[in-house]
Amino acid sequence: MSILILLLVVLIVVLGVADIRRNLITKPVFGIFKKILPPLSDTEREAMEAGDVWWDGDLFQGKPDWKKLHAIPKAELSAEEQAFMDNEVDTLLKMLDDYKIVQEQRDLPPEVWQYIKDNGFFAMIIPKSYGGREFSAIANSTIVSRIATRSLTAAVTVMVPNSLGPGELLMHYGTQEQKDRWLPGLAAGKEVPCFALTGPEAGSDAGGIPDTGVICKGQFEGQEVLGIRLNWDKRYITLAPVATVLGLAFKLYDPENLLGEKTELGITCALIPTSHEGVEIGDRHFPMNMAFMNGTTYGKDVFIPLDWIIGGPDYAGRGWRMLVECLSAGRGISLPALATATGHLATRMTGAYSYVRQQFGMAIGKFEGVQESLGRIGAYTYSLEAMRVMTAGAIDLNLSPSVVTAIAKYHMTEMSRTLLNDAFDIHSGRAIQVGPKNYLAHGYMGIPISITVEGANILTRNLMIFGQGATRCHPYVLQELEAAANPNAEEGLQQFDSLLMKHIGFALGNTFGALWQGLTLGRFNSSPVSGETAKYYKQLSRMSRALALSADFSMLMLGGDLKRKEMLSARLGDVLSHLYIASAVLKFYEDNGRQVADLPFVRYSIERNLFEIGKAFSGFFQNFPSAVVARLLKTLVFPFGIGYKMPADAVTQEISDALLKPGVIRDRLTHLCFIGEGDEDPTGLMESAFIAVHEAQPVMKKIYAAQKQATLPRKIPMEQLIAKALELNVINADEAKQLVRMNELRFASISVDSFKPGVLSDNAI
Ligand SMILES: Cc1cc2nc3c(=O)[nH]c(=O)nc-3n(C[C@H](O)[C@H](O)[C@H](O)COP(=O)(O)OP(=O)(O)OC[C@H]3O[C@@H](n4cnc5c(N)ncnc54)[C@H](O)[C@@H]3O)c2cc1C
Repeated sequence: MSILILLLVVLIVVLGVADIRRNLITKPVFGIFKKILPPLSDTEREAMEAGDVWWDGDLFQGKPDWKKLHAIPKAELSAEEQAFMDNEVDTLLKMLDDYKIVQEQRDLPPEVWQYIKDNGFFAMIIPKSYGGREFSAIANSTIVSRIATRSLTAAVTVMVPNSLGPGELLMHYGTQEQKDRWLPGLAAGKEVPCFALTGPEAGSDAGGIPDTGVICKGQFEGQEVLGIRLNWDKRYITLAPVATVLGLAFKLYDPENLLGEKTELGITCALIPTSHEGVEIGDRHFPMNMAFMNGTTYGKDVFIPLDWIIGGPDYAGRGWRMLVECLSAGRGISLPALATATGHLATRMTGAYSYVRQQFGMAIGKFEGVQESLGRIGAYTYSLEAMRVMTAGAIDLNLSPSVVTAIAKYHMTEMSRTLLNDAFDIHSGRAIQVGPKNYLAHGYMGIPISITVEGANILTRNLMIFGQGATRCHPYVLQELEAAANPNAEEGLQQFDSLLMKHIGFALGNTFGALWQGLTLGRFNSSPVSGETAKYYKQLSRMSRALALSADFSMLMLGGDLKRKEMLSARLGDVLSHLYIASAVLKFYEDNGRQVADLPFVRYSIERNLFEIGKAFSGFFQNFPSAVVARLLKTLVFPFGIGYKMPADAVTQEISDALLKPGVIRDRLTHLCFIGEGDEDPTGLMESAFIAVHEAQPVMKKIYAAQKQATLPRKIPMEQLIAKALELNVINADEAKQLVRMNELRFASISVDSFKPGVLSDNAI
């Protein structure tokens, strides 16, 4: 006992007396810290500092404040935005024939281009004072989503000018003169923008672009002015083939020190009219057969005046920061909107098809194998919508949460890939034969594009989510790094000293918290709600604590190596991501008034999230470089093993059953899905067939009963069966008419396209 007291006294003296603590603890730890966490490069630092920490910070720090989550206002459309959805968007959708656009015209028709330009589709983010629509992020997202359920080509065309590009960059950084010059034209659709960063040698590593600008004097409008001589070679640039204004990223050099002392200024962005001498808009690409404009641009020794730099000469060399900040907001809107659209379309059409399509004498949706895929489609779509709304909502709070938007981009596009595969599996041949009747094919072709753009997915998962999250969301690490980088060593040490004490307290809190919650299985954690979902809040809090502890251990053990150990760090990123997805689902459920009918979707989603968290931890422990530390961590966090399981089959079946019935649940879940009018449109036809087959059930029951009594034969074609049933008075004439119509619709909806000889070769690329 006396030894314990002695130890405690020593500890109090060492920690409590600043000089002793600084010499005995802080100094050596500071030395080790500097060694294991090398200073950030400029681009890393700018990426780290750009954007905001939001709900991801709560989840990462081990103590999510659920009341704070619930208090975040629900993102909703204003009356003006809703009117735009009901009128302009609706009109646009009716003008689109996606098969013709993609397979025949390979472009939007001229009248669609004009409609988009004239009606402010390119002006959604531009302020009203410049003639724009000044819509919210949720409106931007909802509009793009809705269009994407009809035509991915049209959606991407609308999306790009409202995402990262000249408009966004001008609004944030443009000089007044630049705003006045460009924004009214962009809002009116008279100017079409594109933004060129990527080139043959630099894709993911955008900071390594080889395109150059050199400060020099040159001729502009008959006068000698200070400007930039540019050389660039870019590819994959969306809208480049039709752009009138090119946003260009390049590395700026000032070898003659005409601007100042620095010779290497860094990445810079400029706006250049495509009509400017020397600007070459090259050939068009054909990305996965999609018809949106995408192509190359290059220029050799093109001279531009200095004030074409976005933000003016003051912003020379500040382009990387600008791009990282703006890309983060766009990443939370555009790709999430496309992914959600995939979910809405796939859910509505696959549910209908599973009911209409019969094999072995029954609707395929009644087979458990199909139910498994259908349940996943429905549950993923619920999660997608929840994430879409919550993430756009953050951007509407004027936040630019870079980790959250990376999570949304990666997971939502991956989920849409999975659910589209499920939709294809269920539709089988019906989805494979491309033609006007196929409503899924173009979405399927477009999936790799969503996976690749705005941060290719492997990079996003492995480098950005945890790589940025660990430093950004941690309460102390970024400040500790700053202290380590302080050129005044003594001042750095003092800063580090106070941070270290807080960090130790944080780590100890997480260690005991994780152990307690592990031993009690999180049962005593608080929940902001009662009822069925309370247990999920408790488990998510527990896993949040486990993440905070594991992240600290990893950084301590691996230091700077952690970012190279992508497979390991990505798993911690997965934990953070699934905590975020689950938070979005719980918030969505609350914000929508705790609909009982939503519970199976909530259960499936959260139980899957917890299962994935367990899987990620399992892989993390298995591959942690020190087996002893891994065992210790695992024992602290999961003393009784990882017990999370995938949702029960009964939950999957509840969801798939809901998708096989017309009604509010299906309507709510797929509210963004475009359904064409009449039987000419494939989505309208599928919907009509679905309703007709449902409505015919009472009549069909009479036929089944007669078949049971052997009054009617069993295995004869439907037309003959209807005629026979009428002849034998099993059904009356009106009922026979209803069944004939139902059967026509049913057959038409399961039909696919075929082409006369020569038609396809005429269209070949
Ligand atoms: C249809 C389309 C439209 C586009 N529109 C535009 C546009 O308008 N403007 C523009 O500037 N660009 C645009 N892009 C470019 C797009 O942003 C890039 O394609 C993307 O950044 C990936 O670059 P890359 O294709 O060269 O792949 P690479 O950079 O060669 O990457 C190849 C693979 O390696 C992975 N990878 C790379 N580095 C790492 C790492 N450190 N850790 C883990 N994995 C890594 C990537 O995730 C990817 O899977 C577009 C691309 C496409 C296909």
